[in-house]
Amino acid sequence: MYMHDYMKVNSEGHLVIGGCDTTELAKEYKTPLYVMDEDRIRDNMRQYKNSIDKFYSGNGRALYASKAFSAVYMYKIAAEEGLGVDVVSGGELYTALKAGFDPSKIVFHGNNKSYDEIHMALNAGVGRLVVDGEGELEKIDAICKELDKKAEILIRVKPGVDAHTHQFISTGQIDCKFGFAIENGEAYEFIKKAMTFDTVQIKGLHCHIGSQIFLFEPFKCCAEVMMNFYAELKAELGLTLPELNLGGGFGIKYVESDTPVSYEGYIEAVSDIIKGICEENELPIPFIYMEPGRSIVGDAGTTLYTVGTIKDIAHVRKYVSIDGGLGDNPRYILYGSEYDAVLANRATDTPEETVTVCGKCCESGDIIIENCHLPKAQSGDIVAVMSTGAYNYSMASNYNRIPRPPVVMVSNGKSKVIIKRETYDDIIKNDIL
Ligand SMILES: *Cc1c(COP(=O)(O)O)cnc(C)c1O
Repeated sequence: MYMHDYMKVNSEGHLVIGGCDTTELAKEYKTPLYVMDEDRIRDNMRQYKNSIDKFYSGNGRALYASKAFSAVYMYKIAAEEGLGVDVVSGGELYTALKAGFDPSKIVFHGNNKSYDEIHMALNAGVGRLVVDGEGELEKIDAICKELDKKAEILIRVKPGVDAHTHQFISTGQIDCKFGFAIENGEAYEFIKKAMTFDTVQIKGLHCHIGSQIFLFEPFKCCAEVMMNFYAELKAELGLTLPELNLGGGFGIKYVESDTPVSYEGYIEAVSDIIKGICEENELPIPFIYMEPGRSIVGDAGTTLYTVGTIKDIAHVRKYVSIDGGLGDNPRYILYGSEYDAVLANRATDTPEETVTVCGKCCESGDIIIENCHLPKAQSGDIVAVMSTGAYNYSMASNYNRIPRPPVVMVSNGKSKVIIKRETYDDIIKNDIL
């Protein structure tokens, strides 16, 4: 049983998010329901922006990595908070443009962008394309000539820093579908080639070393490898790059034992490294981008479910079934991810038992939380699963033809639907009747 500090419990023992009683939200909008705390999202965004202002003289921009949760409303919030966004597909780009997002502050990623996607991006005036593969330069070149445009690009590289293995410098990272490796000269050769295209201008390099990272060390290591490479490019190719994109990957709290790094501390540490290497090598201090996704929306989201069937299998485990499952949260079945929850209608009751919270899909692996400590749950209780704001809605599916739940934004005691609940008609809308 864990809940975030920014949440409250009212006198009736109900979980309150953004000033809204979650049991009332469950009644009004039905369950399953994604609830997002708008103030928390804005606070998370401001932490990045303020830290760049404070430790890097504002010479950078946080880009919201919108794959974590892509919705028209999210791009509007990011715009209001002065962030840029990163998109990884035509669909995300389309959503951002529909939201009226300033295209010059959009960075477009992808290891296999189609001709149509690149065309759409250049035509819309997207700020930076992150080039990530042989053949992409030729596509960009052809489209630029057709549209009579120039493309400002970043090139994605693999710094050889592996944040997942706790072994920060590792050649294993070469085995990754994204980017060009620095250590085997692949990145150097590609950059040399990119310099020969007069339709593209290389603004800088990009790297992204992983996700849900709780340590400073890999980020610092990465900044160091990147800046040393910048020094090499200047010395060998006479290429001075004005920008550096350090990616995202900052961890958030899913369960009590998670210990996220402070974003401010991260930016301070990385700033020092960049400035130091620039000074040593007489390089200009680059404009930096960082790309937080999970840490913007993850802890701002909560999923409300209603408890249905309960099965207590003697000496094995107790299954508490809820009315959603892997369709709205596939992270357990994908990665074995951990979550924690409270009973929203009895948030102050002490936990009494350890249960498995499972979904209603036809898969035994359809589990949301294994070993969840909860008060004795009963049919009709509302389960509030913490930290579902990132990679839940954006990864949701209609498996078993279950409609996707709506997303409700809460702030100051008010709630509003930002994405509607799907209907059965939505489910069959592409079927030929
Ligand atoms: C996924 C991704 C991010 C965001 O990662 P988080 O762990 O959600 O912060 C940023 N940049 C790129 C290129 C990504 O692929």
